[in-house]
Amino acid sequence: MVYFDNAATTKLDKNVLESMLPYLTDSYGNPSSIYKLAQENRIAIENARSSIASIFNAKPNEIYFTSGGTESDNWALKCIAQAYQKKGKHIITSSIEHHAVLHSCKYLETQGFRVTYLPVDKDGLIDLEKLKESICDDTILISIIFANNEIGTIQPIEEIGEIAHEHNIIFHTDAVQAVGSVAIDVEKMNIDAMSLSAHKFYGPKGIGALYLRKNVKIIPFMDGGAQEFSKRGGTENVPGIIGMAKALEIAYENLDENNIFLTKLRDKLVENILKNVPHCRLNGHRYKRLPNNVNISFEFIEGESLLLLLDSKGFFASSGSACTSGSLDPSHVLLAIGLPHEIAHGSLRITLGKYNTSKEVDSFLTELPEIIKRLRDMSPLYDEYLKK
Ligand SMILES: *Cc1c(COP(=O)(O)O)cnc(C)c1O
Repeated sequence: MVYFDNAATTKLDKNVLESMLPYLTDSYGNPSSIYKLAQENRIAIENARSSIASIFNAKPNEIYFTSGGTESDNWALKCIAQAYQKKGKHIITSSIEHHAVLHSCKYLETQGFRVTYLPVDKDGLIDLEKLKESICDDTILISIIFANNEIGTIQPIEEIGEIAHEHNIIFHTDAVQAVGSVAIDVEKMNIDAMSLSAHKFYGPKGIGALYLRKNVKIIPFMDGGAQEFSKRGGTENVPGIIGMAKALEIAYENLDENNIFLTKLRDKLVENILKNVPHCRLNGHRYKRLPNNVNISFEFIEGESLLLLLDSKGFFASSGSACTSGSLDPSHVLLAIGLPHEIAHGSLRITLGKYNTSKEVDSFLTELPEIIKRLRDMSPLYDEYLKK
């Protein structure tokens, strides 16, 4: 079995699991209680908070624990908007956001907010001039995805933040795919709010964080106890928090080494596929992209059939259509970069991880051209094309 779907989730690192185990067994105290069994958990949580903050050059009281990327995105979008609605009701985002951001924006539109969805170019980059032009007197929030989960394109985050700050606008970024792959300094990059999720960097599922700059207002998303500076009630996910901090430490200790390894595998895949498989194209920017992301569209191919054939050979990857979510529409990201429907449908996303090997990449490269050929031999569209 070869796992090539690390953008969907990653395998828990054994060292992360080990760091979590005491908090799933003997250290079960509720961190809000005052006896020793509880207070050691309080200390562990605050150490994790400090450790996470220092990785992003943030302060510990700017890190709020959540249940993951989706919650952090919902909280940032809906509750920053609500906190600033007296100042204005206009929000700017991009057309290639994750659904956690896009659907939060759709919700805000039902609450009287106006949302501008910036287009992207063929590589998936937003245009900074268009961003400037779309700013209005009542713009309160700009939310742009750091690195796209489908095509891997990395946006000019520092410049976007600079533009936001010149206009006194809050800048949020969904950095769920970037965290663990890209060095992030929230000060230098002018980031006011940032979403992250542990299961995308070899941590456990169901735990994430929102970084929120100290002077930025937000209303609570979850009402309850005084946890998370009274902004997010609920007994802390102690093992999750400890695991996320450990996973982040590991990711950033080995960042350069891992990225060199992944970039090498990524480039080998891209170059080899583009060279050996006719009628295909790379989606996303060639270089301004995540070190682990390959996204390729094959003409005359149905993405779902390709995935099934790959699955039968033991390769687990992802496609560019949203069929799994019960819709036949191709991905909004692939349409936003200008792909026609039929080409978007034939897309394959391979996202590598630290547990992949170059042997796995080689065996994939051996199998893929055969599989593509087999599918095209069955395709009436390809037949038509050949006759022309
Ligand atoms: C996975 C992902 C999310 C959602 O995170 P969860 O922790 O799974 O809720 C949000 N944004 C991006 C870009 C993602 O890749």
